[in-house]
Amino acid sequence: MREYFAKVYKDGYEPFLKMLEKRVKEDQKTFVVTANPETLMIGTENAAFDKILRSEKTMIVPDGIGVVKAANMLGYPVKERVTGVEIVQGLFRLADKHRKSVYLFGAKEDVVSRLAERLEREYKMLTVAGYQNGYVKDKDAVFEEIRALSPDLVLVALGIPAQELLIARHYDQFDKGIFVGVGGSFDVLSGLKKRAPAIFIRWNLEWLYRIIKEPGRFGRFYKSNVKFISKIRKMR
Ligand code: UDP
Repeated sequence: MREYFAKVYKDGYEPFLKMLEKRVKEDQKTFVVTANPETLMIGTENAAFDKILRSEKTMIVPDGIGVVKAANMLGYPVKERVTGVEIVQGLFRLADKHRKSVYLFGAKEDVVSRLAERLEREYKMLTVAGYQNGYVKDKDAVFEEIRALSPDLVLVALGIPAQELLIARHYDQFDKGIFVGVGGSFDVLSGLKKRAPAIFIRWNLEWLYRIIKEPGRFGRFYKSNVKFISKIRKMR
């Protein structure tokens, strides 16, 4: 667990995006993992995912407030959350600015198709290289298609850890691309699901909003967070 925290991006959203801009411009292959406490707990329980989190090929950003707080408790000066939704929004703007292409993989058909349409409409210089919903059987075959298209951004919304495991299986076969596992971001950015109101975000209570809206998440949230907190306490 400590190895994960040593890698968590410290400087906050703006510098992270600046760095991504440089990497997009220079075609430097990049793999971003957006982490909340649950993500890190899965790492401690799943060997393949642990390898991804530790790999020098991946960057870990603190998506959840729990990761920022825990990092600070352990002496890593992580400044603020860098959320998946905001990274994706930032990447769309960068793709538009630098005339880059985007592939969207994941979420339900109406979500991903609506997001693709929205991108085509709102960003004149960005190209949608393609999209595919996340409920197809053979997800590795989709990655073969993505490789043939060679897009600049590959956003994968299948939930943790499936999205990262899939990216990791194919990453070495790509010459370029910014790869990000973006969880439920397409649902929000398609306009079909609301992100928490600004006040929840400002007070770092976005997690609470999600539980209120989707009570089915509570079991999963509780289990991983209780374990996470006790693990962090023991590490101090
Ligand atoms: N999803 C998918 N295929 C699946 C399972 C999930 O495309 O087989 C999508 C789902 O529609 C949603 C995203 O993956 O858009 C997962 O969102 P969630 O908020 O659960 O992400 P997490 O909390 O796991 O990051």
